[in-house]
Amino acid sequence: PGSTATGLLQDADVALSEAKRDGKARWRIFDLSMADAAMARLETESALRDALDQNEFVVHYQPIHQLSDNSRTGFEALVRWNHPTQGLLSPASFLSVAEDSALITVIGAQVLSHVCSDMQRSPHGSDHVAVNVSAIELAQPQWADATIDTIVESGVDPARLTIELTETAVMSTRRDLSADLLRLRELGIGIHVDDFGTGYSSIALLRDLPVTGIKLDRSFVSSLNDPESQSYALAQGLASLAFSIGLIGVAEGIETPVQSAFLRGMGWTHGQGYLFGKPAALDEWALA
Ligand code: C2E
Ligand code: MG
Ligand code: MG
Repeated sequence: PGSTATGLLQDADVALSEAKRDGKARWRIFDLSMADAAMARLETESALRDALDQNEFVVHYQPIHQLSDNSRTGFEALVRWNHPTQGLLSPASFLSVAEDSALITVIGAQVLSHVCSDMQRSPHGSDHVAVNVSAIELAQPQWADATIDTIVESGVDPARLTIELTETAVMSTRRDLSADLLRLRELGIGIHVDDFGTGYSSIALLRDLPVTGIKLDRSFVSSLNDPESQSYALAQGLASLAFSIGLIGVAEGIETPVQSAFLRGMGWTHGQGYLFGKPAALDEWALA
C-alpha cells in the first residue's frame, strides 16, 4: 500500500540482491532494514570509488614461516583501506561491496602493482609474496594477461609470487580457469588454494587445476585442542594429502607454540599467524 510502481521495483531489486548475496536458488522478502543496508552499501561503493582516486588502499604484509626451523620464507599481502576519517579498515568492512560492484578488479590490480613495486626494491631477494585474488577478478577474461603483464613489466622474478584463490571462488566462476592458471604456472608463479577445507569440491580442484599449495583454514587450527571438533584428525589427513601429491602445506592462524608444534608434527611445512607476526606495513619488515 502506498508504494509506487517504481518504488516497488526498486524494493524488489533490493530483495533480489540480498537473495543473490546469500547464494543461489533462494528467495527473500523485502523489509525496510534491507533498504537501509542497501543504502549503506551504495554509500560504501561511492566512498570506494573516491578511495581509488585518492590512492587510499595500502598493502600490509604478514610473514609466512617454515615450521621445521621457524625461518621466514615470505609474506602474504593483505589490503587495507586507509580511510580519511575512520583510520585503517580491514577487508571485512569493504570487500563484499567491492566484489558486488566489481571495484575489486581495480583494487586487486592496485594491490598487485604495490606488491611488485615493493618487491622491486630487492629484485633478487628470497622472500616470496602471496597475493589474494577474488572470484570476480578470476571471472574477467583479461585477468591472466593483466596479471602477467604487471609482473613481467615490474622485473620481479615471477617465481617469487604466488596467487591465493579460494575453492568457492574457483567453483563460482563459469570460466574454465585451467588454461589461465597454466600460463601463470609456466612463468613460475605459484597457485595456492586459500581457506582450504571450508569450500566445496576441494579434492577435484586439486586434480583439475595446476595448484602448487594449500592453506589450511584458520578454523581447523583454532580448534585443534577441542576433542569434539575432529579438527585434529582432519588437519592431519589434509597434511598427508598435501604431502602425497607434492603440494606445499601452509597452516593459517597459528597463535601458539603448541599449535605450531602439532601442525609441524602432522607434516604441515609452513605456517602463518600471530605467533610469527601480525600483518603490518612494509617499513616494519625488511623485504629481503
Ligand atoms: P585470508 O587470505 O585467509 O587472510 C588471512 C586473514 O587472517 C587475514 O585477515 C589475517 O590478518 C588473519 N590472520 C592471520 N593470522 C591470524 C591469527 O593468528 N589469528 C587470527 N585471528 N587472524 C589471523 P584480513 O587481513 O582481515 O583479511 C581477510 C580476508 O580478506 C583475507 O583472508 C582475504 O580473503 C581477503 N583479502 C585480503 N586482502 C585481499 C586482497 O588484496 N584482494 C582480495 N581479493 N582479497 C583480500
Ligand atoms: Mg589469503
Ligand atoms: Mg585464508
